[in-house]
Amino acid sequence: MDQNKPQEEDYGYNLFPERNSGKFQKGSIAESLFTFNHKCQVMLQFAMETSPYAKLLLGAMKSSGCAVYKDRHFSCEDCDGTVSGGFDATSSQIVLCQNNIHQQSHMNRVVTHELIHAFDHCRAHVDWFNNFKHLACSEIRAANLSGDCSFHNEVSRFNFGLRKHHQECVRGRALRSILAVRKVSREEAEKVVDEVFDTCFNDHAPFGRIPHDKKDANFAYRDFENRDRYYANL
Ligand SMILES: [Zn+2]
Repeated sequence: MDQNKPQEEDYGYNLFPERNSGKFQKGSIAESLFTFNHKCQVMLQFAMETSPYAKLLLGAMKSSGCAVYKDRHFSCEDCDGTVSGGFDATSSQIVLCQNNIHQQSHMNRVVTHELIHAFDHCRAHVDWFNNFKHLACSEIRAANLSGDCSFHNEVSRFNFGLRKHHQECVRGRALRSILAVRKVSREEAEKVVDEVFDTCFNDHAPFGRIPHDKKDANFAYRDFENRDRYYANL
């Protein structure tokens, strides 16, 4: 695999010019920042190459004319609090919080979640700042399709109806995401989420289904690839 013989230009270091000086002292803060950043880059690369969720989204964006490049569209940074990532619509960049993502499975979920926002941004010309419904819709889709709610399903499968629990989890996560990025009341956020919930919860593009686990995501990815092949043969 590529990450065993890393090439410097693949790691997006050019996004962090101050870290390019090569003057890191052993044990210095600069060195530990560099290490965090390096680990984040390696995990990102691994997610892009191996996660069926990420691969499908990257493929779908490429087919829609929004090819995603690791160095241009991702940025590993330190973030406040417990935030894991974000999508910056003004620069079309996905921020990955290198100080809060420590495991590959977490990285895979964050990359997928943020790529769903990027996909929505690409296909729908989302008005993130003025149309509150657009933001709510994309957060519902990201929570529903990224696997954010799959772990909870595994745990509570025997206690709740699976479908209802999944919906509750998606609603709760979408609400939390909105409240984290917009200064609105909980009541207002709930109202908007409920208004668009059914439509956006049932919009499974580009997966064609809710990928509840990696197996589902692999099937969705295979369907996507076959669809491309079919069109290519016409
Ligand atoms: Zn989100």
